[in-house]
Amino acid sequence: MIDPCSIETSPLLSVGGALAKIEADIQPVTATEQVVLKSALGRVLAEDIVSPINIPYDRNSAMDGYAISSRDINTNQPFTLSLAGTSWAGKPYRESLTSGQCVRIFTGAVVPNDADSVIIQEQVHSDGEIVAFPANVQAYRNIREAGEDVEQGNLLCRRQKKLTPTDIGLLAAAGIYDVPVRRKLNIAFFSTGDELISIGQRPEPGKIYDSNRYALAGLLTDPCYNAVDMGAIPDDRALLEDTFKQAAEYNDVIITTGGASVGDADYVKDILASCGKINFWKIAIKPGKPLAFGKIGACYFFGLPGNPVAVVVTFQQIVVPALRQLSGAAESKAMRLLATCTTSLKKAPGRQEFQRGILTQDENGNFFVASTGQQGSHILSSMSQGNCYIILSAECVGVSSGEKVLVEPFGTFL
Ligand code: AMP
Ligand code: MG
Repeated sequence: MIDPCSIETSPLLSVGGALAKIEADIQPVTATEQVVLKSALGRVLAEDIVSPINIPYDRNSAMDGYAISSRDINTNQPFTLSLAGTSWAGKPYRESLTSGQCVRIFTGAVVPNDADSVIIQEQVHSDGEIVAFPANVQAYRNIREAGEDVEQGNLLCRRQKKLTPTDIGLLAAAGIYDVPVRRKLNIAFFSTGDELISIGQRPEPGKIYDSNRYALAGLLTDPCYNAVDMGAIPDDRALLEDTFKQAAEYNDVIITTGGASVGDADYVKDILASCGKINFWKIAIKPGKPLAFGKIGACYFFGLPGNPVAVVVTFQQIVVPALRQLSGAAESKAMRLLATCTTSLKKAPGRQEFQRGILTQDENGNFFVASTGQQGSHILSSMSQGNCYIILSAECVGVSSGEKVLVEPFGTFL
């Protein structure tokens, strides 16, 4: 059977070409807001944050043991010191150590000023007053210097970083209460199609459940987005145009699915052309060729295809980089790796393909990938069963079992 999507009169824009056009067009949001640290997870930092303090704040012990001065170490034979007190984590020993003394110390406790070494408790015998040390204990060990992790005034997190849980932990370690972040993106998304019914309604001949909005709602779950589900709109040109125009007034981005192709009921591209501006329409990607990108007023517009797999593929490959740039985040790329393909793959030349695969790793770290099977753009189960894309170049004419292929695990970014 001839793939109807392969019949094309003019050369299609490559995926790389589409991404370059998006990159050239998108102006990141500049407004910022101050948010408390707990609400900053996943948000885009608006400024470099430097540490107001040394981390650690104090010179402290890395082990449970005894703090001593290296001057008191006898390197030739066992020696004893008198126990002067205890430095607890949170309750420092505040006196000065004099020669011949040691201090019981616990992990995280401040090392007394005159001590420069912590001898671990396993090496030591104590009767509660006199502490016996073996010969050749090592000086200057087991102490964490103040500022060893981050010095006061040094960078904690760079602007444009999308804050991770460990970033939040690091900022908390510096006592940072709140941070400036870029404002959230307002995103409206909806489905289009006369055939769509909602879950909860009875199935009927000719009707299908609207799955795209559910997948999109999940894909748009991100602390940087205020994503609003606008429902399903029938294939009614006037209604669609009104809905687009209204949504464009209040949002940074509109994402639609369906109606972006060349059928008689596919109005999305024409409406975008008449009430906005088309940047490109159709790209050399499979699945997902009929994709319209442009603007209505100041609002970016992504008209994604209707087929459910094409929606997910184009969202992840085209829309995600655009939203990342718009949110003000630094560039990040999905991780890709080479894996040995254990099945043969069919592929016609012309479009870059994102087939669904199941990636595994053996005990030596070698990667293997198998096709999930049927690759039609309506086979959403392939996406659900798979854990990666197998990326085949536009020129590729198929893959034999045993060949290396490029693979992109779902949702792994560098
Ligand atoms: P279209 O691009 O509107 O021609 O739609 C292409 C295919 O995707 C058709 O088989 C549609 O029925 C299907 N489709 C469109 N929208 C949705 C949706 N929201 N959920 C599931 N399938 C859809
Ligand atoms: Mg349709």
